Amino acid sequence: MQLPTEYNINEAESKWQKYWEREKIYNFDINSKKQIFSIDTPPPTLSGKMHLGHTFSYSQEDFIARFHRMKQENVFYPFGTDDNGLPTERLIEKLKNVKSVKMKRQEFIDLCNKTLNEIKNDFINDWIKIGMSCDFSKTYSTIDKNSIKTSQKSFLELYRKNLVYQREYPSIWCVNCQTAIAQAELEDKESESNFNYIKFPLDNASITIATTRPELLPACVCIFVNPNDNRYKNIINKKVKVPLFNQEVKIISNESADMEKGTGALMICSYGDKYDVEAVNKLNLNPRVCITKEGKLNELAGKYQNLSIKDARKEILNDLQKNNFLIKQEKIKHNVNVHDKCGAEIEFLSSKQWFIKIIENKKKFIDFGKKIKWHPKTMLSRYLNWVNGIQWDWCISRQRHFGVPFPLWYCEKCNDIILAKDDEIPIDPLNKKIKCSCGGNGIPEKDVMDTWATSSLTTEIALNLYNIKKNIPMSLRPQAHDIIRTWAFYTIVKSIYHNNNIPWKEVIISGHVLDPKGESMHKSKGNAIEPKEVLIKYGSDSLRFWAAGAKLGEDLRYLEKDLVTGKKTIIKLFNASKLILMNLNDYKNETPEKFELIDLWLLSKLNNIIKNCTEYLENYEYSKAKSEIENFFWNTFCDNYLEIIKDRLYNNRGENAKISAQYTLSYSLLNILKLFAPIMPHITEEIYHFYYSKKEDKKSIHISNWPEYNKKLNNKKAEKIGDEIVNLISEVRQFKSKSNKSLKEPVNITLPKNKHQELKHVLADFKSVCNAKNINFGEKFEIEF
Ligand SMILES: [Zn+2]
Ligand SMILES: [Zn+2]
Repeated sequence: MQLPTEYNINEAESKWQKYWEREKIYNFDINSKKQIFSIDTPPPTLSGKMHLGHTFSYSQEDFIARFHRMKQENVFYPFGTDDNGLPTERLIEKLKNVKSVKMKRQEFIDLCNKTLNEIKNDFINDWIKIGMSCDFSKTYSTIDKNSIKTSQKSFLELYRKNLVYQREYPSIWCVNCQTAIAQAELEDKESESNFNYIKFPLDNASITIATTRPELLPACVCIFVNPNDNRYKNIINKKVKVPLFNQEVKIISNESADMEKGTGALMICSYGDKYDVEAVNKLNLNPRVCITKEGKLNELAGKYQNLSIKDARKEILNDLQKNNFLIKQEKIKHNVNVHDKCGAEIEFLSSKQWFIKIIENKKKFIDFGKKIKWHPKTMLSRYLNWVNGIQWDWCISRQRHFGVPFPLWYCEKCNDIILAKDDEIPIDPLNKKIKCSCGGNGIPEKDVMDTWATSSLTTEIALNLYNIKKNIPMSLRPQAHDIIRTWAFYTIVKSIYHNNNIPWKEVIISGHVLDPKGESMHKSKGNAIEPKEVLIKYGSDSLRFWAAGAKLGEDLRYLEKDLVTGKKTIIKLFNASKLILMNLNDYKNETPEKFELIDLWLLSKLNNIIKNCTEYLENYEYSKAKSEIENFFWNTFCDNYLEIIKDRLYNNRGENAKISAQYTLSYSLLNILKLFAPIMPHITEEIYHFYYSKKEDKKSIHISNWPEYNKKLNNKKAEKIGDEIVNLISEVRQFKSKSNKSLKEPVNITLPKNKHQELKHVLADFKSVCNAKNINFGEKFEIEF
């Protein structure tokens, strides 16, 4: 056979990616009778570019997919992109320099779709370039017709099951994005602020409250004090005037007031936080909302109307000071809730929103969550902690443009909700005129759904894409840990509500990529690394090799030396294979009459590696599998075995000795390639096609059979003797290098007499690899030149 002189990583990787696509190697075969292994692939958010964290986590799930494919399972590994909702709107606004709120909905939607079409192919290509083995022949988008239909169908079903409701209620609001958001989208941000001690006049006395939000004074509806607080016992139920704004509010005794915090007197506003929302509702107080949806103060704020929250705070504090209401200020650091998409501090505003019921079914979500196998195990407690801490039902309506529309209208006459019929979806109610049974006109719902309301249905969306009838639960959900509270949780909710079942049997959670110092990577920090540059320099096999270095859930530093090791391994595989395959030119697949002992040693060792790697990969421990095969290949196979048997290949030591080596080489190289294949799909495919593709009659190593553990190859005795020989060889090598001699320098070796019986069958190999002139048996082990 003719082998190329060198391996051009970039050319070869792109060649094989095209080959896999052309030969449909990863296409899902719906007619196959094989057992299905299905993966609920995370659809990356279409952000224009893949980042290093993607290459890391997607490589890890791909190792698992490739392993199961080689185990001859029918791997269902779809690919989609998440491209609706706020992140996409923000991307389009940035790319096209527009503001969605200033555009007509349809105009903005058209612009989004047009832009997505422009950038999507390049985006998906990045995933192909890292060697993902998804079925890229069909991909879904969370805003395509199939997804809108699936999502609207889910809504209609939940509506009929009485699991969604609409309610006018103070909910979490982002004044920057101008939409309601869900609890899962909140992040904690530490911020510096002032605790302002403000005096509220009361007859001849006063009561002081401490607040970080003086701009909410116009929204103050009452003051809470603890019934056990002696300071305030005799003013309970009295009324005080709110400074500057002069509305009269009552001092109410309430056990929830914390005597230790501030002055122990607490201002209740509509609405500073969830506590306020509950207090106002419980006591049935008239809310005074002073903040608009745009984040400005309204007419209740009097002269401060139209100021932003920040400016109003400043002005009000100034005036409080001028009028001697501000007693003192304390600098504090505290955590504030911000919107995860934009970082803006959130408000609580009353508005009409759609909610999916969550609170009343927490126990179910916990029980079902425990039925799923989480890897690593600790991730289950993250899930449980989240579910236990949920305080709100899931708000799914968004006052935005580019999302899945709610399939409904409101009757202008009788106020009834008119739902779209099942055969009408996908539908945008804005584009259809409809009449209520009472004769009134239907007014379309303008809100769109939270993007998670759709991406929580990825299992359904992917199965629908292939017209697969129910195959729930799927085998596996891979994802990152920061979206356990959103993607994992919401998918479990929907699966329970629709199928009364878990969505997948197992979940694997990947960690994050850190910079070389162990800090998180961010474009803003200037420490982010472009996957494209890494791919050009090292290729995707090296990148995957690096990604295989971290366990599931474990963060991994990006260290260039790991990429270098990956690249060296590729080159070593290529060169070792060339050497081996050249020596198989005259090999006709014969089995030797008798195996040489060192061959039995290698076959037995390799057999153990096959057993271990298989078990590791079954348990998602690809990093252990990687280090086993890496170690075996470099040390046992290249450094020792190949050196030991060279003599049998080149010098005439008999037909059987050569065939025994050739058999072992052919068998072990094939299995080494297969064990490496899930992690390094390109170089292994390249070498496989030099020789084995024809021999095994397979179009690709990736659909060839995974190596099987063979009990018969187990040979403890051969392993023991082989290990001993390898130790002796290492001593001889050390002796030569300590004496500053070449490894080829001839030596005389004396072995202990009592080892004769054991070592007699490996002496020829030992002699040649050590370049020994003579091997004698004597009292003890000795080497001399
Ligand atoms: Zn926001
Ligand atoms: Zn009506």
